[in-house]
Amino acid sequence: MSFGTMASGSRKVTFVAIQTPSPSLDPARLDDLSATLRGPLFRPGDHPYDDARKVFNAMIDRRPAAIVRAAGAEDVQRTVTFARANNLPVSIKGGGHNVAGSAVSDGGLMLDCSSMSRVQVDAKRRVAVAGAGALLADLDYATQQFGLATPLGVVSVTGIAGLTLGGGIGWLNGKHGLACDNVISAKIVTADGNLVTASPEGDTDLYWAIRGGGGNFGAVTSFTYRLHPVGPVLAGGFSFPAERTREVLQFYPGFAAGCPDGLSMSASLGRDESGRPVFGVGVCWSGEHHEADMALRPLRDLGPTVDSIASTAYSALQCAHDAGFPSGRYHYWKSRFVTDLTDGAIDTLLQFATEMPSPDSAIGMQQIHGMAARVDPSATAFPHRRSQSELLILAQWADPAETERNVGWARAFFEAMRPFAAGGVYVNDLGEEGEGRVRDAYGANYDRLAAVKAAYDPTNLFRSNQNIRPSV
Ligand SMILES: Cc1cc2nc3c(=O)[nH]c(=O)nc-3n(C[C@H](O)[C@H](O)[C@H](O)COP(=O)(O)OP(=O)(O)OC[C@H]3O[C@@H](n4cnc5c(N)ncnc54)[C@H](O)[C@@H]3O)c2cc1C
Repeated sequence: MSFGTMASGSRKVTFVAIQTPSPSLDPARLDDLSATLRGPLFRPGDHPYDDARKVFNAMIDRRPAAIVRAAGAEDVQRTVTFARANNLPVSIKGGGHNVAGSAVSDGGLMLDCSSMSRVQVDAKRRVAVAGAGALLADLDYATQQFGLATPLGVVSVTGIAGLTLGGGIGWLNGKHGLACDNVISAKIVTADGNLVTASPEGDTDLYWAIRGGGGNFGAVTSFTYRLHPVGPVLAGGFSFPAERTREVLQFYPGFAAGCPDGLSMSASLGRDESGRPVFGVGVCWSGEHHEADMALRPLRDLGPTVDSIASTAYSALQCAHDAGFPSGRYHYWKSRFVTDLTDGAIDTLLQFATEMPSPDSAIGMQQIHGMAARVDPSATAFPHRRSQSELLILAQWADPAETERNVGWARAFFEAMRPFAAGGVYVNDLGEEGEGRVRDAYGANYDRLAAVKAAYDPTNLFRSNQNIRPSV
């Protein structure tokens, strides 16, 4: 890992970037690989190459040596075997939404799983098998045909693979846990090119590691998820008047900590037309509808100006936030966990909400609680098991000339919140922030993860991720 510079419009921003030596690769070898694949292989200069190397975050502009758009598990095996033999690091793209851009690396071999998006549902057994290139929308659409769902995230164009491997926090976490908690098994191509099934019955250490340890251990080709009956939910948002923002911020953490499992919330701090900070709480009630009134009463008693809670198809809720994240924008995200908000924390939040440079940016608080918080921190690789919110500083802007201002705001805000944060960071929202933060993301599970990494990927072939070094 070394310090690098990424072009972002007219300015340059310095990141800690995963950079790999770009070994000279005989083009004939790529021809040989291409001839064995069902899916296409793109090289620099090929017409689809520039499109295929793009990811969600427009800040990321990296040039892999080649891109394989795998058509199935055999393509993945051949690609991994080729990369190992030719000493090329592999980066893996599921939905391409990781803001750090780890799906693509300079000079590496990019394994694009986006064509592997088939979802099969066994409604009787309440199980779905999803290809690693599926988006949340693909899985939700298929499972909702049967009134079922598995917990995922809150923006439907996110990839299931990266989201699940890092944890997966969404509207059902209070009732049914994280996405990774609902993985029954996964098929994975490991660094030796073998296709294995990680489950409670086989490759159990790998099964433990891929539920929170990210893409460190191999290329997943499919996940098998446990499904739950999920009918229409009560969902929508409350907005509170600007003059009560401080009071609602004081109230919210205690309410979130004690709310029933059926209620999951995602709060946000923005600004009204006159520039004053305003607080809103997005909710999903997935319990019995007749019990919702009691659960939501404390929020209603605060006198919201907007109360849009209504019965909503779960799949409609899953797309409700998509418009806020169009593709092609520049993103710089920072995140911390918070459990309570002291007066100092609230002062800081209000200050930075007022100073937010871009109207497209957001300050979010995504709740983890209930079932997701009760799992033993060592039961899966995801260690952050307590009732808390992820404070998300989501800088988003459209004009590259605005990069420095937005990055500066996010960094200063993140630093100012340091004294008020709980420990740890969610691996899926981690930027390129150095090894200390990567260790914080895996917490007390790091050493066991490093041992699993040594067993399955001793040469660190899969290192374009929040990297776990193989233990020696
Ligand atoms: C708009 C937006 C909304 C989001 N909302 C949520 C949310 O509600 N809840 C939440 O928990 N997170 C959320 N996230 C964060 C999200 O979980 C991560 O960005 C995640 O990495 C996205 O997965 P992906 O497959 O799209 O990523 P990609 O960029 O494709 O991949 C990211 C990394 O995942 C690994 N990976 C991907 N595919 C595979 C594979 N097949 N095998 C092995 N490793 C693989 C690799 O290490 C890769 O570098 C959101 C992100 C965005 C941009």
